[in-house]
Amino acid sequence: VERRSRRSGGRPIAVSFEFFPPKTPEMEATLWNSITRLAPLAPKFVSVTYGAGGSTRERTHATVERIVKETRLAPAAHLTCVAASKGEVDEVVRGYWDAGVRHIVALRGDPPGGVGQAYVPHAEGYKTSADLVTGLRRIANFEVSVSAYPEKHPESPSFDADLDILAAKVDAGATRAITQCFFDNDLYFRYLDKVRARGIEVPVVPGILPVSNFKQARNFSEKTGTYMPSWLAGRFEGLDDDPETRKLIAAAVAAEQVFDLVDRGVTEFHFYTLNRADLVYAICHLLGVRPPQAGAEGQGKEGHGKGQAA
Ligand code: FAD
Repeated sequence: VERRSRRSGGRPIAVSFEFFPPKTPEMEATLWNSITRLAPLAPKFVSVTYGAGGSTRERTHATVERIVKETRLAPAAHLTCVAASKGEVDEVVRGYWDAGVRHIVALRGDPPGGVGQAYVPHAEGYKTSADLVTGLRRIANFEVSVSAYPEKHPESPSFDADLDILAAKVDAGATRAITQCFFDNDLYFRYLDKVRARGIEVPVVPGILPVSNFKQARNFSEKTGTYMPSWLAGRFEGLDDDPETRKLIAAAVAAEQVFDLVDRGVTEFHFYTLNRADLVYAICHLLGVRPPQAGAEGQGKEGHGKGQAA
């Protein structure tokens, strides 16, 4: 399905959605309500994360398998190298291929001892994410996506070192990078310039985290070193006890971010849904990404007039 947004100048907008594997039956119900709500938007793929240290191995697998069996969505399974031998990882990977999964998001993962510790690879494991990409491509013809860090990975001593890692992943066969979330679009574009200057040509798809819980987002940004602009804090100021207004502000802030990206040429987005559909659905609607019928109507209306995007 090709959806065009008035703001994108008629260029098609593509989206993908990220979910995490549920821990409880209640969380499972929430996840499946969200998948059911978002599925008609025909995302390019939906990805399911892998818990730190492989802690969600079975749950990730079960969620991905259910997506294969019960939907027409294209699933992408996240996979890390942490605390597993190559043999163990390869077995998981073959299981995915046999289940019909054709897309893996290949990651090194966080240090087994936790963020902040030095990363020590498993003695018989894949040493780096680039190693893992090579391994995946050896097993089968998977589509492979990898991570990218507009503010560089906290362990990288410099942007050059960080870009070397991205280049190695692409040389090993990755065809798409998905970014860590960011709140200041200028950082994304500065990074993109560096990526292209380094000769890396794969799409670098912005990972968008719609902020509905500001405190949670601030904690996340402190942990990951993601820059949190003061204007963003200002938007949520005084609303700690007002979830309804917060939600409206969240939609406005996320819309502001994606519209600015579209205005500056971005046509593909990866949404960190946190297993909730409403905010992401609304933002997609604003982007012109709609269920086929409604989309045709909405886009038709938007497409009239000057015949060119405003
Ligand atoms: P890489 O990009 O491979 O490398 C990160 C850093 O490690 C490098 O910048 C460098 O400093 C160092 N490094 C790597 N290789 C070398 C080398 N050969 N020599 C020297 N230094 C090296 N985590 C999960 O546990 N599960 C998930 O499902 C998950 N999904 C994610 C999805 C996205 C889109 C993103 C952006 C991150 C995700 N993460 C996930 C987090 C990720 O696992 C952590 O950020 C982790 O610390 C790095 O893994 P990576 O594959 O991004 O690392």
